[in-house]
Amino acid sequence: MVRTLSSKQNEILSKLSSIVGKDNVLYEKEDLYCYSFDTMSHGYSVMMPDYVVLPSDARQVSEIVKIAAYYKLPIIPRGAGTNHVGGCVAVDGGIIIHFSKMNKILDIDIKNLTCRVQPGVILQDLQTAVENLGFFFPPDPSNLKVSTVGGALALSSSGPRHFKYGGMNEYTLDLEVVNAQGEIFHTGMAVKKNVSGYNLTNLFVGSEGTLGVVTEATFRLIPKPMCRQIMLAFFDQVERASDAVRAVIQAKLTPSVLDLIDRNTITTIEKFYPTGVFKEAEACLIIEVDGSDEQEITTQSSKIEKVCKLFCATDFVLAKNKEESEKIWFARRSAFAAVAKLAPDVVTEDAVVPQDKITDMVKKIKELCEKYGIMACIMGHAGDGNIHPNFSLDLRDEKQRENFEKLKDEFFEYASSLGGSITGEHGIGMTKSKYLDKNAPVYRYMKQIKDVFDPENILNPHKIW
Ligand SMILES: Cc1cc2nc3c(=O)[nH]c(=O)nc-3n(C[C@H](O)[C@H](O)[C@H](O)COP(=O)(O)OP(=O)(O)OC[C@H]3O[C@@H](n4cnc5c(N)ncnc54)[C@H](O)[C@@H]3O)c2cc1C
Repeated sequence: MVRTLSSKQNEILSKLSSIVGKDNVLYEKEDLYCYSFDTMSHGYSVMMPDYVVLPSDARQVSEIVKIAAYYKLPIIPRGAGTNHVGGCVAVDGGIIIHFSKMNKILDIDIKNLTCRVQPGVILQDLQTAVENLGFFFPPDPSNLKVSTVGGALALSSSGPRHFKYGGMNEYTLDLEVVNAQGEIFHTGMAVKKNVSGYNLTNLFVGSEGTLGVVTEATFRLIPKPMCRQIMLAFFDQVERASDAVRAVIQAKLTPSVLDLIDRNTITTIEKFYPTGVFKEAEACLIIEVDGSDEQEITTQSSKIEKVCKLFCATDFVLAKNKEESEKIWFARRSAFAAVAKLAPDVVTEDAVVPQDKITDMVKKIKELCEKYGIMACIMGHAGDGNIHPNFSLDLRDEKQRENFEKLKDEFFEYASSLGGSITGEHGIGMTKSKYLDKNAPVYRYMKQIKDVFDPENILNPHKIW
């Protein structure tokens, strides 16, 4: 469909084309439509950018940002577009910078245990490349097959292995960033220790594209664990599963993964992605241990089995080989896709509570679902107190939309009342901005930081703020 451009729009188009080449600027409606949403369910409104630009290096990104600054156009960085919070939609139009052409692993430095990558690299590709050399880059959002380094950095993504290894913030040594004026600078250094001034690297990790555009990242690597063992523990009460998680931690065991899924999640995964790995139960713990030798793995696994049985696990299954382990991981990572098949919309929420409040949080979610007539499949990184209810609903239905807003308000209020956070890994984006108390000192200081890096508010506007 040919779009009629004003003379100013034509001028911008020709400037952008002169930077990246005309094939790397999209501006027709059917192209823009593909970039008008991410994984946020927003009731089917369409937020179109004015242009999508595909740069191939930092210099081009800098020139694009300078044009945006000149015309006061929003800049929206975009990776795979899989975030749940509307983080990369163009609320007021503007320029989406899509990083699919900046997708190179630039260097894996085994002598110094670091790697340098462009933002469009897919996380799993990076993990595989590093693991092939005997090293490890742990951050593992469940959609690591598609999620990009840039998106994961901007949200400080993590995943099941966060319990033992932490997330993106723990591995990032240095970022090359383009600020709102188009200046290219580095936030840190490619060394393991560096306390020369404020930690700007960790400020940019998790900043959701609102402080600068990341054009390169340097990460630290760690040795790859030589052995892994995954196991499943089934329970007839969520409380028992949750108590078992706490007991595993108190016993000073160090599994790499301590995830929980509830009955609805088990049933839904088995319905749409049947593997037979999950049995009938109110709750299932997915536990993985890793280490340097088989002895260490066997010792940890049998101690974990004892703890789970002490808390009345109805069944305990150890994967016997690599094939069985992969089947379990496939089933676990299919959860979102499975729930998405239940109704027109699925909304994944994200809250963190102190680990000993998991049962309270799960009960509250069930109570709210009952009250508002909405179904949820609950899962979470239980070891970290990070709960993800996947709500299955139809957002075209006005009543359900209204009810869901009320449900969310109560959900986040309750998480906060337990001393928890409204997000552990998905970020704030558009959808959770209203839950931040912008008058609290912490957010007043954050806003001042935002104003330093982006005084005209062109970097990913409407996200966080
Ligand atoms: C099925 C499924 C499972 C998931 N599981 C997890 C999980 O286990 N753990 C977890 O943490 N998250 C999870 N997520 C959420 C999310 O997908 C991930 O956090 C992911 O890392 C986002 O990567 P992306 O490339 O899709 O980023 P996008 O969605 O494209 O972007 C995310 C944010 O990053 C910004 N951004 C992108 N590139 C840059 C850049 N170069 N510079 C500055 N800002 C940039 C965007 O503007 C946006 O604000 C899951 C999502 C799905 C759909």
